[in-house]
Amino acid sequence: MQYNLADLHTHSRCSDGLRTPTEAVQEGIAAGVRVLSLTDHDTVEGIAEAVEAGRQHSVDVIPGVELSAHVLDREVHLLAYFIDTDSPQLRSHTEILHGLRHERGAAIVDRLNQLGVPVTMKEVLSRSGNSPLGRPHIAAALVDHGAVLSEEEAFVRFIGDRRPAHVPKPRTPADGVIELIHAVGGVAVLAHPGLSTSDAILEKLAWVGLDGIEVYHPSHQPPQIEHYHEVVKHYGLLPSGGSDSHGGSKGPHIGDCGIGCEAVDALGNRAAAYA
Ligand code: AMP
Ligand code: ZN
Ligand code: FE
Ligand code: FE
Repeated sequence: MQYNLADLHTHSRCSDGLRTPTEAVQEGIAAGVRVLSLTDHDTVEGIAEAVEAGRQHSVDVIPGVELSAHVLDREVHLLAYFIDTDSPQLRSHTEILHGLRHERGAAIVDRLNQLGVPVTMKEVLSRSGNSPLGRPHIAAALVDHGAVLSEEEAFVRFIGDRRPAHVPKPRTPADGVIELIHAVGGVAVLAHPGLSTSDAILEKLAWVGLDGIEVYHPSHQPPQIEHYHEVVKHYGLLPSGGSDSHGGSKGPHIGDCGIGCEAVDALGNRAAAYA
């Protein structure tokens, strides 16, 4: 167990995770995490509960969100921290994303039907509930339906990037999303650059006000970690890190990856400078 650990990337049922926000905080405590941020996809619904659970257990919970955004036609994920989650501007953005995700989910279901997989929107919605609809919900519905044996198979055969039933999200340009994050008091950190982002995209984001990079992520190998430390220095950005844990037995657990708490102070100071 690492002392002084901050896990700044976690998910709950409020998006496509498998645990409640309170359970996420409890898992963080069990793992010895000192600071945690709940960063659900395109929603801040779980933040109030997580902050309250953190207060009860003396764990610092930083309000966060993982916003989908685009650089040209490339989707990137922007983690926002220290945001005012009550801001009408932020709420209206997440409402719009919620609606777009619903439409895109319906388009994916149409494609699946055309491919001879008779899954219905009702089955998908029984998985997503009120949460912003994501491909993991569709994957789970495909498993329920018996069309595939595992969620992984659903991605590989049907809904993964560039697979036959995949429909990309409508574009939400990253420069506008970064502007919004700053307007609501937050800092913008590029999530898991090693997963899908080229250094050219990273440079474009640095030009439009990106504040930091998720240097530490379970998908990053040591050479990438070293590389992103260099990138951070080169552009005057801040480093961040987190487990991207979604809960359940598969995948990383909260506290498996993160960064020292001093990094959180640096992010907080930059957010304060925008206020
Ligand atoms: P969406 O935001 O609807 O495009 O869904 C993206 C989410 O799907 C990611 O955050 C991952 O949690 C999950 N995902 C993406 N690709 C895969 C994959 N190949 N296998 C399993 N899960 C995936
Ligand atoms: Zn997710
Ligand atoms: Fe992500
Ligand atoms: Fe994530």
